Amino acid sequence: MSARPNIVFVMTDDHAAHAIGAYGSRVNETPHIDRIAADGMRFDNTFCTNALCSPSRATILTGTYSHINGVTTLDTPFDSRMPTFPGLLREEGYQTALFGKWHLGHGGLADPRGFDEWAVVPGQGEYHDPEFIHPDGRRTHAGYVTDITTDMSLDWLDRRDRERPFCLLVHHKAPHRPWEPDEKHAHLYPDGSIPEPSTLRDDYATRTEAARAATMRILDDLDDVDLKQPVPEGLTRDEELSWKYQRYMSDYLRCVASVDDNVGRVLDYLDQHGLTEDTIVVYTSDQGFFLGDHGWYDKRFMYEESLRMPFAVRYPAVVDPGTTCEEIVTNVDFAQTFLDLAGVPDLPPMQGRSFAPLLRGERPEDWPTSMYYRYWMHDDGFHHLRAHYGVRTDRYKLIYYYNRGYGLPGTSDRVFEPEWEMFDLEDDPQELNNVFADPAYADVRAELRAELDRVQRAALDQP
Ligand code: CA
Repeated sequence: MSARPNIVFVMTDDHAAHAIGAYGSRVNETPHIDRIAADGMRFDNTFCTNALCSPSRATILTGTYSHINGVTTLDTPFDSRMPTFPGLLREEGYQTALFGKWHLGHGGLADPRGFDEWAVVPGQGEYHDPEFIHPDGRRTHAGYVTDITTDMSLDWLDRRDRERPFCLLVHHKAPHRPWEPDEKHAHLYPDGSIPEPSTLRDDYATRTEAARAATMRILDDLDDVDLKQPVPEGLTRDEELSWKYQRYMSDYLRCVASVDDNVGRVLDYLDQHGLTEDTIVVYTSDQGFFLGDHGWYDKRFMYEESLRMPFAVRYPAVVDPGTTCEEIVTNVDFAQTFLDLAGVPDLPPMQGRSFAPLLRGERPEDWPTSMYYRYWMHDDGFHHLRAHYGVRTDRYKLIYYYNRGYGLPGTSDRVFEPEWEMFDLEDDPQELNNVFADPAYADVRAELRAELDRVQRAALDQP
């Protein structure tokens, strides 16, 4: 293996694993993303520690939990003076670049740092003819944002110094809301053709008030901008749900199709330039997403669909093709893994652990068997998702809705009675049956409460 591998980190925004062929998608095909998994390793239990755009991005860059890097909500600023994996690689001679979505603020200490070159969309960015912020000012670029982000990335690769390794971050805006596809994909996934998930009509029985209070229901909360067409007249409520689901998913999957095409362009470029062998290629998303699961779009909850991140990695020198990994890793671990693979020391306050051994097919005996999660953006004005933290093991999940915002930016000052949920993921993988109060689970519940305390302390967090 090369002592100084190149890194191409492709991250999309809100692309759930269950809309990727390699993860067994029932709703679409992604032949190019699947190439990464087929030529490398697919991680099946990669989880985010706070399922929200800005917090996950800060965590990935810094290898720290939200309460350490300070980006707990969408409205908390990022201080880019914190050590990041691209910044540390750059100090050790790597060429570094970032193109696409940043979403960690703009100006002053929030601007990207640690990159030789960067161009990012302001905030969420636009799909068509997007404006980009460059270090020397803002410019509008004609075309479709996913193509443009890839164009910038390949152009930078063309101009790089061939004598030094590189770390390239390709951060696509897609497929984030409001899901505006490229015209050339408009024929794909026509309305009516997409299978519905079995939990589309979830009634939240046995779940907490937190699940019922969330305003991210396909039936009630998608707006005219999301739907892009008027709802046909004369539909029953149930027919309206099906119609809106199709409308939402058609556009979402078309946006994913453009991402997949552009992943193919990057892989082809690496092949054509003899870079495949010495380059680590990762495909991931900042969190998962509800694709009609539980009747929802969006993310934020600790439920499986939003908690799980797709994570496929190809590195022919180290990773056997067509392999999978069931071990639990989190987005806190990414930074130290890249540094480890590049032979660059990490720095405090990084809190993760390199999973390079897992890539080599080795499982360290003391590899973690649980993970800590915390969603801080309590009762925000859009989705009214309540603050919670929890622990997930290989079989169980315990969630504590503590239901207060602690005055953090982006939270409301409403406080609700705390609630608990617990799921047996083996018996109930769809998390429909809250067993927290079930006497048959008393022992498990006690163990999970102790484990939650342990992982919370280990992460240097507190209730
Ligand atoms: Ca996101």
